[in-house]
Amino acid sequence: MSDNTHPARILLQKPEEEGPVRTGDIFDKAFAFTRADEAMAAGVYPYFKPISSHNGGTVVVDGREMIITGSNDYLGLSQDPRLAEAAAGVSATYGTSCTGSRFLTGTLTLHEELERRLAAFLGAEAVLTFSTGFLGCLSVVSALVNRQDIIYFDRENHASLYDGARLSFGTLRRYRHDDLAGLERLLAGDADRPGGRMIVTDGVFSMSGHVADLPGIVGLAREYGARVVVDDAHATGVLGEGGRGTAEHFGLQEEIDLIIGTFSKSFASVGGFVSGQRAVVDYVKHHARPFIFTAAPAAMQVAVTLEALEIMQTEPQHRERVLKNAARLRRGMAELGFDTLGSQSQIVPVLIGPDELTVVFWKALWDAGIFTTPALPPGVPSNGSLIRTSVNANHTPEQIDSILEAFASVGARLGMIG
Ligand code: PMP
Repeated sequence: MSDNTHPARILLQKPEEEGPVRTGDIFDKAFAFTRADEAMAAGVYPYFKPISSHNGGTVVVDGREMIITGSNDYLGLSQDPRLAEAAAGVSATYGTSCTGSRFLTGTLTLHEELERRLAAFLGAEAVLTFSTGFLGCLSVVSALVNRQDIIYFDRENHASLYDGARLSFGTLRRYRHDDLAGLERLLAGDADRPGGRMIVTDGVFSMSGHVADLPGIVGLAREYGARVVVDDAHATGVLGEGGRGTAEHFGLQEEIDLIIGTFSKSFASVGGFVSGQRAVVDYVKHHARPFIFTAAPAAMQVAVTLEALEIMQTEPQHRERVLKNAARLRRGMAELGFDTLGSQSQIVPVLIGPDELTVVFWKALWDAGIFTTPALPPGVPSNGSLIRTSVNANHTPEQIDSILEAFASVGARLGMIG
């Protein structure tokens, strides 16, 4: 599989392989970028697949029904008619768009209702909502971290947190994924430096499905006087007795300073939030450029989020089902002999290893009617490529078994499992 002519190579070319670098026109890089077109022509392009309809655990792509494993609709609410009704019910009152920033003309009574109800759910003093979770991460990190401050960062944190750190003027210190001894070395090494400290981590990591060691992180934060910020995009609605996320899972709700979240996964909507002490949330509200200089979320999205929050609080069966489905998928993959990198959640990566083999694996699954997403460099280390699978509450046991059968048959054909 390592010969240079295999179609999968196309997808893996590095920018410098894209042809001679000419100087002068800033668009040269775009004109030289042919990889995507070549991969499409070779039939191995895994991105931007247009879904024409969605139904529980299946979608239709190019007229073909496929089982989808990899979406983030964890509670399976995106097709719940109550959410669609909630969206339809508010546009006559509030219009279809806010056409302005929350800061100026875009704040609706509905935004404030969502913030109040979410704060009550999370047991926080205050909540601020954003137009997306990505903007929430940018806002929180860039607004709170100033020039003298230091951010301690798990290397596998989400891109939006990295970009928030880049927008801030602070110092970024990264520790190896889940390496708390490494985190402690960094904290101890900075003992004499001025400035505030913020430890930032995903709650559930979006590629590995690992749950962050919040008890360990909180212990270090106390010892070294740091604040703890958790991006719970993949955990809200799923982890914890009441679906309040990673902090609740560990019984640490009082210890986590800020929780950032998204409405684009378990809430089946669009938007993001931060919860925490009122003064801190208020500071972000008045200083975060990615909050102030963008239009407010539309009423329809807010109404959907409110309805999903209500369901999350009153119908634990969705959370129970996604956890049960996740256990079935993890157990099945392990029994087949796949390495799921120690996943502890509804995100179940399957390590394939060689980058080209991963593309070939993905394509064979696609041909078998299973819609997965490959994770290739630079998203993962070279030859540490994987296929990211995940389940939601609407997958039936039969659908999960079909996913496992497809992995079994492709894995055996490609000589990865016995
Ligand atoms: N944080 C994490 C860990 C995520 O996985 C994502 C989205 N994939 C985001 C933040 C951004 O959320 P949104 O889709 O609401 O912009």
